[in-house]
Amino acid sequence: MGREDCVFCQIVDKKIASETIYEDDDLVAFHDINPQAPSHILIVPRKHITNLSAIEDEDTPLLGKLLVVARDIAKENHLGEKGFRIALNEGKEGGQTIFHLHMHLLSGRRLMWPPG
Ligand code: AMP
Ligand code: ZN
Repeated sequence: MGREDCVFCQIVDKKIASETIYEDDDLVAFHDINPQAPSHILIVPRKHITNLSAIEDEDTPLLGKLLVVARDIAKENHLGEKGFRIALNEGKEGGQTIFHLHMHLLSGRRLMWPPG
């Protein structure tokens, strides 16, 4: 799957609308269309990378930036006061449905552990 048939590439390229809350040269963050918590934000690299297994060593700064942007979004929205969860779903058993790397930032309710 390449950029043409990838939903998140189309969101990054603004061919599909999203409720974008943050963007810079490397990343875009937007609200999940089917939220699993009162606040459910996805943070995605502009670069099409399938998932964590497809990450190259040169992508290390990008991975760091995903977490730093998650920190900033959490801070701006005061999510840290009650807590939040970061998730990366990978592959069939990990529950991945969109094969463009994305980080979930979930908050606003008590999240169960272990996850379902
Ligand atoms: P995952 O199951 O980890 O691959 O997560 C994919 C997420 O993308 C799901 O939570 C979907 O609800 C979300 N999603 C799918 N299409 C869209 C879209 N067009 N805009 C925003 N979120 C989407
Ligand atoms: Zn993509």
